[in-house]
Amino acid sequence: MIDENVIHSVVRDMERYAEANNVPIIEHDSIVYIAKYIEEHHIKKILEIGTAIGYSAILMSLVSSDVEVTTIERDEKNYKEAVKNIKACGLDKRIEVVFNDALDVNLSGYKFDMIFIDAAKAQYLKFFEKFKYYLNDNGTIICDNLKFHGLVEHKEKIESKNVLSMVNKLEEFSDYLKSNQDFQTEFIDVGDGLSVSVRK
Ligand code: SAH
Ligand code: MG
Repeated sequence: MIDENVIHSVVRDMERYAEANNVPIIEHDSIVYIAKYIEEHHIKKILEIGTAIGYSAILMSLVSSDVEVTTIERDEKNYKEAVKNIKACGLDKRIEVVFNDALDVNLSGYKFDMIFIDAAKAQYLKFFEKFKYYLNDNGTIICDNLKFHGLVEHKEKIESKNVLSMVNKLEEFSDYLKSNQDFQTEFIDVGDGLSVSVRK
C-alpha cells in the first residue's frame, strides 16, 4: 500500500540528502518531462542505468501502479541508500535495484519499453549500444545531462582535463545519436538537457 504522506517526506529527505552529499539527482523539469512521457506512452517496464539514491526511479515508478523499474548502480553507498529509500516508500515490489557495473550486467530475458541512461557520462555510447537490445519494438531511450551543466555549449569555461574529456565524449555521443539511422532522436532543452531516442 502506497502512503502518499510517507512518500512525500521520503522524497523531500532524498532531495536534502542529495544536496548535502553532492549526489547529482535529476532536475525537477526533467523528471516532470519524463513522467509525462511515461504517462502518454503507457510505458510500463523501465530500465535505469545509474540509480544513485533511488530518486528518479521512485518518481518514475509513481507515474502509475503499472510501472516497474529495474535500476543499476555500481556504488555501494548509493546502492544501499537507494534500497533503503525504495523500501521506505513501499515500492520494493516494483523497483528492483541491481548492484553492479552496468557494463557487466546480464539482463537476458528482460525487455523494456523505456531505458533511462543517467550514469557515467563518458560511457553513454557504450550503454546505448549495449542496452538497445533490451528495448521492445518502438521503445525509447532517454539520456540525461546532455548539456553537462551548460559546459557542452561553453567549453572555454572548462579548466579540468577530465571534465573536458567527458564533455567531448558527450558531444561525440550527441553526434552519434544524430546520425543513428535506427533511432529518431529529439534533443529536449529541459533541465540539464535530455535526448529522447525512439526506435524506428
Ligand atoms: N538517476 C539518478 C542519478 C544518478 S547519478 C537520479 O536522477 O536520481 C549517476 C549514478 O550512476 C551514480 O550513483 C554512479 O555511481 C552511477 N554509475 C556511474 N557509472 C555507472 C556504471 N557503469 N554502472 C552502474 N552505475 C554507474
Ligand atoms: Mg542526471
